[in-house]
Amino acid sequence: MQIRLHNTLTRRVEPVVPAHAGEIRMYTCGPTVYRPVHVGNLRSYLLADWLRRTFELFGHHVVSVKNITDVGHMRQDAVDRGEDKVIAAALAEGKTPMQIAEFYEAAFREDERKLGILPATVYPRATAHVGEMIALIERLLARGLAYVVDGTVYYAVKRFASYGRLSGNVGEALRQGVRSEVDPNKRNAADFALWKRAEPGRSALVWDSPWGSGFPGWHIECSAMSTKYLGERFDVHTGGVDNIFPHHEDEIAQSEGALGHPVVGTWVHGQHLLADGVKMAKSARNTLEVHEIEELGLDPLAFRYQCLLTHYRTRMHFSVAALRQAAEGLDHLRQRVRVLAQLSGDKTTPPRLPERVRVAFGSVALDRWNELLRERLADDLDLPGALALVQACVTDADIPPSVRLQFVHDADVVLGLDLDAVVRERTDAPPVVLEAVAGHELARATRDYDAADRLRAKFDGVRVDDRASGALVARADRRLAPRPRRTIASARELRDRRAKRAVRSWSVCVLAREWPDDVARCVRSVLRFIPADGEVLVLDQGSSEDAKRRLDELAAREPRVLVHHADRDLGEGAGRSALLRVARGRSVLELDPSVEITGPLFTVLEEALGDGAGIVGPWGLRTVDFKHFDEVTAGECDAIQGYCQAARRDILLAIGGFDERYRFYRNLDIAVSSAVRELGLRALAIGADRVTRHEHRAWEALSDEEREKRSRKNYDRMYKRFHRTAVSA
Ligand code: AMP
Ligand code: ZN
Repeated sequence: MQIRLHNTLTRRVEPVVPAHAGEIRMYTCGPTVYRPVHVGNLRSYLLADWLRRTFELFGHHVVSVKNITDVGHMRQDAVDRGEDKVIAAALAEGKTPMQIAEFYEAAFREDERKLGILPATVYPRATAHVGEMIALIERLLARGLAYVVDGTVYYAVKRFASYGRLSGNVGEALRQGVRSEVDPNKRNAADFALWKRAEPGRSALVWDSPWGSGFPGWHIECSAMSTKYLGERFDVHTGGVDNIFPHHEDEIAQSEGALGHPVVGTWVHGQHLLADGVKMAKSARNTLEVHEIEELGLDPLAFRYQCLLTHYRTRMHFSVAALRQAAEGLDHLRQRVRVLAQLSGDKTTPPRLPERVRVAFGSVALDRWNELLRERLADDLDLPGALALVQACVTDADIPPSVRLQFVHDADVVLGLDLDAVVRERTDAPPVVLEAVAGHELARATRDYDAADRLRAKFDGVRVDDRASGALVARADRRLAPRPRRTIASARELRDRRAKRAVRSWSVCVLAREWPDDVARCVRSVLRFIPADGEVLVLDQGSSEDAKRRLDELAAREPRVLVHHADRDLGEGAGRSALLRVARGRSVLELDPSVEITGPLFTVLEEALGDGAGIVGPWGLRTVDFKHFDEVTAGECDAIQGYCQAARRDILLAIGGFDERYRFYRNLDIAVSSAVRELGLRALAIGADRVTRHEHRAWEALSDEEREKRSRKNYDRMYKRFHRTAVSA
């Protein structure tokens, strides 16, 4: 299989034919080291890394060169003005240009390392190759392709017949392409400086030359260094699309002009990373650097994963939200690999097959996956396709885990997500952790769950997940930190399932405001008695961070408990309606955290609801005047108290759910009960022997005045609307 790549020069996807058998020589335009690189730059360097790894996978020896521009004129017009970014940065930071360049080169190498970019074979520095640049310029002068004016050497683009072929900038397009500020010494506006005379007073980054003291133009370094390290013909040259013109157009003019023949086989250009709709660039103030990814609590490899999702010739929209999503994707993939490596034996392989056949079956499958992988990579570096293959393989339960793991390993040689480290996490864990894990598993085996929990708390830097099939060891820094939880600002942000069929028997709805111990007691008591397909929905109405965390922990341990967080108290009516939007139960039980279920409540509620009652619960209310209410625990009544109130979901939906104008809980229960009764259905108290009411802290915590204030509006609203509905009158 031959690797095919899009060649900017021919505008076609074509096979890469190495100029030297078995070897690929590639050149990548590297950074100007006067400031940190951003993730836009790194998208281009990732492309080069994936190319290099792909060539290696296909069996080529790769020589890769990435230059370090440490005499820093990036734009020709800036060169024309004699500006140098390295010198400017040095002046600004009070350092020498050398110190600046060394500092940012080291930072760049570190950023590359964090993204899993393999080091190039050589990182030649421009300042160390001025001699080669001068020699090249002399050759261009000798061939009549350049001219000298007043100590500055220009390239005469008109003398190079194929100038403009790479970028398509010929004729009028070329005139448009070159910058407006024209140097009067140029014969042609499109000519560019190969060597620039030093302006008076420039003391740093100047060299003697046949044309006097000066410094090189921007493009010449890449011609000089690429041909020095890779020879007069090499295979692949990469960069971002902004490098096509003028930088690479000029490089071709220089290298081919001097050597008299084509030099680069395939020009590969990566599309830009955009942020807020425009190219990520320092000048656009929309950059993100690697250390900032870390400061977000994310692994820099999440950005690598993110880039895998978009083909290199497609512009990629960057946002922190998308980066977070990618981090979650990577976390998922790692977790799958971890489970494969640590928890699944080869259970999927038919056990009676002899080992010989088993191995053969595995290796055939593996070969097939690797072939598909190579096909994707050979097809103009289809990395999204390659990643999709890995995802498909790891989740395919029909493939033996050992084959899946081997394929993950093989594919990751190119993808570079360091998945092998995930495989090794358990064996790499410090002995003390391994011992503790063994103890932990023993405790589990002997059902000593308290001890198992205690052991888990000990691990430092290592996370151990307690799973049904055993303990899963993960390096803590390889697991995504729990995401700052999503909060809703209104019920509308919860998925509306009201029109959907009820697929559960019961939904128990709990509004939580602080008091996590009460909520936990309430929820645990529900879980003891609710039918197996029931769900517990908790809406946290802006509790403190600690209480929120406690709820999340509860939900993490109990799959039937679903916790939503609101950014504040939405109010009793709105909160209950919010949960009704997502409830999937045929029947819905509204429960206050102060209540604990102590017996088989659901069967009794179910019976009563099946018996023609519309709203049921342990504690009812009777009244004659809708002013004074007496609590009853048996028989038909005027209302069922909200502490524990059950109804069919469709009935609650028929009455329009819970009126959001009831901010406080009081009297909402009477309003709801009355509305149900208006439908001709009864309110029925079913006895309080299966429930316990604990201190109602939401009420106890309020002063008399506050109680009165909060109840008043609710009462007036309820009275006005429902006072004629009393049955006991
Ligand atoms: P510069 O320092 O601007 O020459 O950029 C160094 C490398 O990063 C070049 O190959 C550029 O093409 C590339 N690059 C710069 N900005 C972006 C971007 N927003 N997206 C992708 N590549 C970029
Ligand atoms: Zn270059």
